[in-house]
Amino acid sequence: MKTMTRAAAIAAAAVLAGACGTRPDPVTPDQNTAFEAHAVALVDRFLDRNPEWSIYAGRYDNAHRMTVPDAARRADDLAFAEAELAALDRFDPNALDAGNRTDYELIRNRIEASRWYQTEFRSHEWNPAQYNVAGPIGLLLNTDFAPLEQRLEAVSTRLSRVPDYYAAARDNIGTPTLEHTRLAVQQSQGALALLGEGTARRAAESQLADDDKAEFAERLEAARAAVSEWIDWLRATEARLVADGNARPFRIGEALYEQKFAYDIQSGYSARELYERALVEKERLHTQMDAITVALWPKYFPSIDMPSDRLERIGALIDHLSARHVARDGYFDEINRQIPLLAAFVAEHDLLDQDPTKPLIVRETPLYMRGSGAGASVSAPGPFNPGADTFYNVTPLDRFSDEQAESYLREYNHWILQILNIHEAIPGHYTQLVHANRSPSIVKALFGNGAMVEGWAVYAERMMLEEGWGDQEPEMWLMYGKWNLRVVVNAILDYAVHVHGAGEQEILALLRREAFQERTEATEKWRRATLSQVQLTSYFAGYAEIYDFREALKREMGVDFVLRDFHNEFLSYGRAPVRVIRELMQE
Ligand code: ZN
Ligand code: ZN
Repeated sequence: MKTMTRAAAIAAAAVLAGACGTRPDPVTPDQNTAFEAHAVALVDRFLDRNPEWSIYAGRYDNAHRMTVPDAARRADDLAFAEAELAALDRFDPNALDAGNRTDYELIRNRIEASRWYQTEFRSHEWNPAQYNVAGPIGLLLNTDFAPLEQRLEAVSTRLSRVPDYYAAARDNIGTPTLEHTRLAVQQSQGALALLGEGTARRAAESQLADDDKAEFAERLEAARAAVSEWIDWLRATEARLVADGNARPFRIGEALYEQKFAYDIQSGYSARELYERALVEKERLHTQMDAITVALWPKYFPSIDMPSDRLERIGALIDHLSARHVARDGYFDEINRQIPLLAAFVAEHDLLDQDPTKPLIVRETPLYMRGSGAGASVSAPGPFNPGADTFYNVTPLDRFSDEQAESYLREYNHWILQILNIHEAIPGHYTQLVHANRSPSIVKALFGNGAMVEGWAVYAERMMLEEGWGDQEPEMWLMYGKWNLRVVVNAILDYAVHVHGAGEQEILALLRREAFQERTEATEKWRRATLSQVQLTSYFAGYAEIYDFREALKREMGVDFVLRDFHNEFLSYGRAPVRVIRELMQE
């Protein structure tokens, strides 16, 4: 699909917004029809000016164009945001139907967030790791959406801008953090590998014309030189910051944290309220897990004295029970066996609607998708490819040594593996997706709320156990407690680190002692907290909000509350923020 030029888009938006600063007359006669057309055009404008984002979304018509992140581009982005916000002001969200209203909130939030990121958060000045040309180029080289030669041509045009790209990056960076500077070095080395011999050979052996091949080789060489120069510059910057001791602290502090939380999570809670909610939840889980441990202790340890410290005894029982797990060569078959059982349970207990015409296909993770280490994930068709199948990717454990496999299987033991399948598949991510696809919205597909999606999957775990999956077995609830603590503690530690200034030892102790995590997992989590902000809270934020909403509704409705109806209606709004769904369901 061909779209307007950027200038034309801004001009059109400006015209729509009216010439002066006063609020124009409301749209007539049908706000919904007008808004739908507006939203479709806006998404198009957005994709058109963000080719990298387009590539990730599976639209390739502008894939050859690389965004150079310089000051002119930022000014242009800001003008775009102002014009689009003014255009949105013409619509009254309360006059829109539920689907449009949620789309409206998502669009408005996305644009306001982009303005805030540039003018207040300003990570373009202190996070060198946000500059990397590799992602989109890797996708163009490895996704079969067009013949190789056509994709190489897009890559070639992109490569020609790489030197400008890194020149802009160097201009932007003022005083970076050490943590992001080191990450940028690491990631840029990955970019160098992508732009290496393998890619040179593919172009040389392709059906490109000879002068196109020569041009590609030249541009690739110049791009490699630009990345190498960037790495040298980063290393020199790191050395200078270490010597001077004046690197920017990675902690963002309370004011930026609250605002980032508001834009990224779109929660009904403030970050601080969520943090306090998570502390209460941690205590609730520990109390429940300890009651189970005390009751089960004589069964598993008849001749060992129970430790007086509650966390110590809970940890000992979890450790003991983790030995119950499938054999490494039975991992795939066991997951495959459980999926229909979960679907049958949901049907029998009338928990929500399912659609047997959209089956979930369990498969071994394709090779090009492996490597991140994740054992299981759902891949859904993208918004521009809606007819495609939905897969449950399971990575076989054959890449592991015996010791690694054992450690992995203890983690995903008899109980946790079931909870994982609930989360990823039924009635978690896959089921949510089937419901969302019934009222497809390009806005929700592209700008959808991540906290709602993850929150639903985490909510589904507890809901299934409450409804009797696992027969209320105490061992299942104990393992669930450990699993859920990960989500709860992620929310606690992110806030504690960025707002309260918690340090590494404090966080490692929290993860190891209070959430029963292994050392490597805990260390990796600390590193993640130094490199990201807010993202670690998203699972708990969505979950807590859904659960609290359901409980409030139950109290309000009494015997009229029907769990199936609650779930079906909740999911019918698609990937909207829980706060907005709650408002709509209570109207
Ligand atoms: Zn074992
Ligand atoms: Zn998930």
